[in-house]
Amino acid sequence: MQSETIRIRGARQNNLQSIDLDLPLGKFIVVTGPSGSGKSSLAFDTIYAEGQRRYVETFSPYTRQFLDRMDKPLADSIEGIPPAIAIEQSNSIKSTRSTVGTITEILDYVKILMPHMAKAFCPQCSRPVTPESATQIARRALEAFSSKVLLVTFPISLGATRNVSEFFEFLRSQGYLRIWWKKAIHRTDEPFPKSRELPPESLLVIQDRLTITPDIHARLTEAIEISLRHGKDRCVLIEGETLHPFSSGWHCAHCNRDLRPPSPGLFSFSNPLGACPSCKGFGRLIDIDYDRVLSDKSLSIAAGVVKPFQMGQAQECQKELLRACAYREIDVHTPFEDLPASDQEFVLLGDGSDTKETGEGWAGVKGFFDRLNTKTYKMHVRVFLSRYRSYVPCPDCAGGRYQPDTLNFRLPVGEGLTLPELASLPVHRLAP
Ligand SMILES: [Zn+2]
Ligand SMILES: [Zn+2]
Repeated sequence: MQSETIRIRGARQNNLQSIDLDLPLGKFIVVTGPSGSGKSSLAFDTIYAEGQRRYVETFSPYTRQFLDRMDKPLADSIEGIPPAIAIEQSNSIKSTRSTVGTITEILDYVKILMPHMAKAFCPQCSRPVTPESATQIARRALEAFSSKVLLVTFPISLGATRNVSEFFEFLRSQGYLRIWWKKAIHRTDEPFPKSRELPPESLLVIQDRLTITPDIHARLTEAIEISLRHGKDRCVLIEGETLHPFSSGWHCAHCNRDLRPPSPGLFSFSNPLGACPSCKGFGRLIDIDYDRVLSDKSLSIAAGVVKPFQMGQAQECQKELLRACAYREIDVHTPFEDLPASDQEFVLLGDGSDTKETGEGWAGVKGFFDRLNTKTYKMHVRVFLSRYRSYVPCPDCAGGRYQPDTLNFRLPVGEGLTLPELASLPVHRLAP
């Protein structure tokens, strides 16, 4: 029976004076009091200790020896207590990468869980990707193509020469007499039809041709094994005119695309293997914040909507901007927010010209900041820039922190969750 309250009677741990207490479950409870009044003795040494002790009791004696066991707290009785987690106050959290997931160490477990549980999907065609052994492929073929004629083939590249007769000679010398090209079998000891265009980068060499019966299992498996070896982990079974690609690696046989194999490092944003290369796993970049640069968009260009251009040497840029606007016939007396989007874009991004090189054109407010960014060795430039910069979500991972290869793997929850999708769920949705 699940009780609705935790009932504590006669708690005497440390300096607690035999207190009785009923605490409702599912509520956020704050324990306050002066230093030394027994807050920690109640929260950690009594409630958490008992919850943890009972939780550990649910494991087998074998498992229990690996877990920290806590002493039974001093109390007459403690009832209705569920398994407990304690997150202690700690001053060691200084990294800007910390999240609820890292502080509670839950993400450490998730990164170990992912390689075991996550399913891979091809980023190009979304088909599931699973490495299959020759035996597994053969078993699937036996089920799917019973009593049909099947070609076992492997893809091979024509090489740099793209010389078909040389290539056919090579295949013949290896004992391969047939290839599959444009829905038909061609012999390698006959000239390739002139009318046909050259085969593409890779063509299919026929390893074996067999009728699928239960007693063919060994021969089929062997043909697939050899094909996978020559085809660099890929083989293609052909039934009728339909191609059925298979792969024994982390590879989408349909798109001929390799996936980075799953490893705990791939699922950690503090590991170079898993971190987004643009933001190094921070999820944010420090960049020019145009809401700060144009803090009042009801101002016109002439009235000084571009704030950093209104003082010091940068006033030269204001003149330059006015010249560029005159040339473009942009109205400099209309509030910036009422200008057409193309004019606003011109002010911010310019016309792609480098004013330094030509002395004309307009490199945009962005060009102004790009130029300053090359002078950050000067203290006053750094101070100036800091006024117009803020953290923005990393455009490459959209704040997700992981590199694109990590997103090929999804946990089989609901529609399938990538690691950043899982990490961004609110805690109440994560609970089972
Ligand atoms: Zn694919
Ligand atoms: Zn990023």
